[in-house]
Amino acid sequence: MRNDESNLGEFDLIARLAARLRTPTGAGVVGIGDDCAAIPHGGGVQLLTCDVAVAGRHFLPGRTPMADVGWKVATACVSDVCACGGKPGYALISLGVPPGQQPEALETLYDGVGEAGESYGFQVLGGNVSGASELVIDVFMLGEAPRFIPRGGARPGHLIAVSGTLGDAAAGLRAFRDGDDSAGSRALIRRHLRPRARVERVPLLQAVASAAIDISDGLDSELTHLAGQSGACLAIEGARVPMSRALRDFARRHGEDPLQLALGSGEEFELLFTLPPDRRAELEGADVTVIGEVREGAGVLLDGRPIVPRGWNHLRAP
Ligand SMILES: [Mg+2]
Repeated sequence: MRNDESNLGEFDLIARLAARLRTPTGAGVVGIGDDCAAIPHGGGVQLLTCDVAVAGRHFLPGRTPMADVGWKVATACVSDVCACGGKPGYALISLGVPPGQQPEALETLYDGVGEAGESYGFQVLGGNVSGASELVIDVFMLGEAPRFIPRGGARPGHLIAVSGTLGDAAAGLRAFRDGDDSAGSRALIRRHLRPRARVERVPLLQAVASAAIDISDGLDSELTHLAGQSGACLAIEGARVPMSRALRDFARRHGEDPLQLALGSGEEFELLFTLPPDRRAELEGADVTVIGEVREGAGVLLDGRPIVPRGWNHLRAP
C-alpha cells in the first residue's frame, strides 16, 4: 500500500460515490450493485455496462498482445450482459492515449475489439479519444434481455451451478508473467489472453436461473456477492468445483492446491447461477456443474467452513 488511495476498498468507494447521487427511480430501473444497470424496454430490459483496461494494471504494455487487450475488455462487458441474461448489442469506446503511443498498436487493439464484435454479435457505434498518462481503454456496452436476472434472487433450497471449469485464467496469468511457454501451460495462457464470454449459456440462464453473476473477480468473491444480495447462505463443496486437467497439472508442477487457484481466479468469465431444484434436469449436457446449495443464513461456506473472499480489489496497488 503506497498511498491513501490504494487503501480505499473498491466497494467502500462505490458506496461513497453513490451517496453523492440521487437514487435512481422508475419502475424496473436497476442501478448500482449488479453486473449491469437496466432500464425497461419493450417487453424486456435494456442492459448497460462498462469496463476499463489500464496499461500496467490490466495488461503489460509491450508484452500483452494488443489485439488480446481489445478482445478481453470487450469480453468483460459481454460477460456482464450475459450474467444478467442478455445479449450484447452496441458499444462505445473511450481511449486515453499516452504521449509517443504508436498508432499501429492502437489499430491492433481495435482489431481485437472488432473480432470480439464479430464473435459475440455487437457493433461499435462510436467513442471518444483523449490524451492520458497511461494507455486506457474503456468500453461501454448496451445489451437486451427478455427479463433481468439479478444477483439477489437466490433462495434457500436452490442449487448453485457454474459453467465450464475454473482456475485456468489465474494459472495462465502466472505462466504468462513467468514466460513459461511449456506445452502444459499454453492452453492456460490462451485462456488468460483470450477468455470467452459464455453467450451460448444465456438461453439456459433465461430458462432456469433465479440469480446469476459472472466470474470476473474470483469464485469466492462472486459467491459472497450472491449471498449478500440474496440475503442467504451459499454452501459449496470443494470436490465439486470443476477444474481442467491442465490446471491440475499446473498446480502439481508448482506444488499448489488447484482448488485454491480455482477459488480466487478472476477473468474466468464463466457464469455462476442459482436455480430451483426442480429445474436441475435442464442442465443436462450444458457443460454446467452443480457445486452446492443455497441455505438460510448468510455468507459463504466451503465444505461447511466460512470462507473470506480474497477476490480482486480493483484499487489495490499493482
Ligand atoms: Mg460481472
